[in-house]
Amino acid sequence: MKLQDKLIELRKEKNWSQEDLAEKLDVSRQAISRWENGTALPDAQNILRISKLFDVTADYLLNDDHEGDMLASADETQTEEVNPPIKKEKPLYLYLIPAICIITLIACVIITVITLNKEPPHPVLNSVRENEIAPTCAAEGSYDEVIYCAECDEEICRTTKSIAKLAHTLSESVTENEIAPTCTAEGSYDEVVYCQECDEELLRTHRSTEMISHKYQNRKCVACGKAQPSEGLLYMSNGDGTCCVDIGDCTDENIVIPDYSPSGDRVTKIRTRAFAGHNNLISVQIPETVQVIGEGAFEQCKNLESVNLPSKITIIYSYTFSGCEKLKGVEIPAGVYHIGEEAFADCVSFESIVIPASVTKIGAFAFRDFSDCDGAIIFEIYDGWELHDPTGAFVDIVDFSNGIPADPVMYIALMYSEYVWIRHQ
Ligand SMILES: [Zn+2]
Ligand SMILES: [Zn+2]
Ligand SMILES: [Zn+2]
Repeated sequence: MKLQDKLIELRKEKNWSQEDLAEKLDVSRQAISRWENGTALPDAQNILRISKLFDVTADYLLNDDHEGDMLASADETQTEEVNPPIKKEKPLYLYLIPAICIITLIACVIITVITLNKEPPHPVLNSVRENEIAPTCAAEGSYDEVIYCAECDEEICRTTKSIAKLAHTLSESVTENEIAPTCTAEGSYDEVVYCQECDEELLRTHRSTEMISHKYQNRKCVACGKAQPSEGLLYMSNGDGTCCVDIGDCTDENIVIPDYSPSGDRVTKIRTRAFAGHNNLISVQIPETVQVIGEGAFEQCKNLESVNLPSKITIIYSYTFSGCEKLKGVEIPAGVYHIGEEAFADCVSFESIVIPASVTKIGAFAFRDFSDCDGAIIFEIYDGWELHDPTGAFVDIVDFSNGIPADPVMYIALMYSEYVWIRHQ
């Protein structure tokens, strides 16, 4: 490098103008200009000044072979203070430009990486079902709905969806909890329908079975002991599910009246004079369903020995047992309040009869010729009885002693008179 170039370089490194340098060296700007364009050379004194000013050796300035090396290798005799190795202070822009370039490059790389990581949209999507589990009637099924890219096969999205349960399959109905009917009680069973697939109980219906009929042997049911109803009896329906019974064509000596007629009517009444005058009758069984025994129902049944009165009877009508010479042991139910005229007249076989506390009226001749009188009629309540004549007029107060009217006249009146007995409560 020639001196003129070195001068320019050194001056520019300091960022000085030709004028700045001229001022520092105390020369004219034109002198600097001539040095730098090579039309003149600085004299020895100015060489020294220049070398001091720029901190370089004179040798460096004058020797053209000292290319970039600023160390004055030939000038080893000089002290290091005079000729230290020259460190050229690089201008700031020399650092800034590469730095900016590097930063820009890194930014470009980062942006590129980010851009590459952002997947481009997949052009065509395919939806398929996977992992399908079929539903049953007991459990829901399920499947995965998966969306793939048709081009790259990448899984884009996976959703698990459920499939509704199947309907149950009904089996034939089966019978469970069966209770066999008897002649006294209905039976029952459960009709159950299960699912053929999962065995779940789907339907249960409780059903009853009709009572079976009695099994009679010797006129009695072998299962429940009930007496076999007589055949030939006549049933007259009341049209409301009840009926009235009459002897009809029955020729039994021991008549059993059923609680229900063969057509299903409840037997609630024995018709007026139903069995009257049937001398072959020995016993009659009346069911508890009967509430009314009509007037004279058993009148003049000369051989009738036993009959029962159901507990719902409230009136023993006139002549009911009149003339039943062999009858004994009839028990008057507790609810009876009226014993009719001649109801038990001429029942000479009775040993005794109890008049319950509920009775408030006894008709004329109700117990005419009743047994042999003494102690045969027992009153549950003694007090309050009066005698009235057939017109209803008061006759006398009955005085009881030990349940028997003390006055024989009164007692005879009960047995034989047309007087009516009334008890005031
Ligand atoms: Zn794709
Ligand atoms: Zn099922
Ligand atoms: Zn039975």
